Amino acid sequence: MKAIVIETEGGPPELRELSDDRLMPGDVTVRVSHSTLNYKDGMALVSGAPVIHRYPMIPGIDFVGVVETSTDARFAPGDGVVLDGWGIGEAHFGGYAERARVPADWLVPLPARLSPERAMAIGTAGYTAMLALMALERHGLTPQDGTALVTGAGGGLGSIAIALLAARGWRVVASTGRQTEAAYLRGLGATTIIGRDELAASGPPVVTGRWIAGIDSVGSTTLASALAATAYGGAIAACGVAGGIDLHSTVMPFVLRGVALLGIDSVRAPHARRIEAWERLSRELDFQKLDAMSRTVGLADVITLAPEILAGRIRGRIVVAM
Ligand code: NDP
Repeated sequence: MKAIVIETEGGPPELRELSDDRLMPGDVTVRVSHSTLNYKDGMALVSGAPVIHRYPMIPGIDFVGVVETSTDARFAPGDGVVLDGWGIGEAHFGGYAERARVPADWLVPLPARLSPERAMAIGTAGYTAMLALMALERHGLTPQDGTALVTGAGGGLGSIAIALLAARGWRVVASTGRQTEAAYLRGLGATTIIGRDELAASGPPVVTGRWIAGIDSVGSTTLASALAATAYGGAIAACGVAGGIDLHSTVMPFVLRGVALLGIDSVRAPHARRIEAWERLSRELDFQKLDAMSRTVGLADVITLAPEILAGRIRGRIVVAM
């Protein structure tokens, strides 16, 4: 099979032939049809750290494909399956290969309404955006309560978050460093566009409430500013680190306004929640918007695109076709 392999720590990613014998243990062997390029894949391809925990590694934190063989009763040859996280591309061979062998517990059936291409146009970024929306809803927030902020709006997670929120009737404030993408973001359903700089500087611990909910890809001062401008009883779902892993905030939004900070993890999210997220994505996401925000590349292309996603220069989503 063809695969991208990183042999040693700090070594370059190479597209080459690999024997199927090298696949790692698992109940299900999948013929992978598509993967994607997520921010985390960019980190794995460019330096390995802090994503890859063992070498050699096939990167790629997600894939969609068809079951070839299975020793688990839940899956049969021909079944469409999706996998996000659980350490693939980090500690277990990942999605940048024509085949993958994984534990059955990690797999989610591909929802009938989703083509493999669209499943990976969604990918881990979109599945995480849905986990964030579900967390905000579990917190009791609805579009009637106010507007929702999306940071890193032009990226993969941000773009899908806007489309999902808009589909549920939310008015969306999109924060972006790329004002040139304003028309694109409005097309996805954003009602207001603000510059990334508005949230990037440190400010007072609490300012006038501007939104009741938020989905944040950026972290650092952006997340602190988002919390400071969250209205009474609101919540921000913290998903990402595109702007940094630090968070210098105060307790004031929490104790003065009852604001909540909701942590979102896609890698170890429980199975039932994954099933719900993928089912909802297949029903609620506007496929025209999804198609408009994604493009398809070949396996070799991810190596050259990896630095681009880390630099925040990729708009929307990249699908990788095997
Ligand atoms: P993308 O690169 O597609 O999107 C990130 C966006 O953030 C960029 O497009 C850009 O948007 C903005 N951005 C980039 N650099 C900076 C910066 N220095 N300061 C402020 N904004 C910046 O990545 P993904 O959508 O794939 O992932 C987004 C984040 O979410 C990543 O940190 C990723 O690791 C994380 N993530 C977390 C998951 C989890 O389980 N918690 C799962 C999936 C992703 P713009 O130009 O519009 O400002």
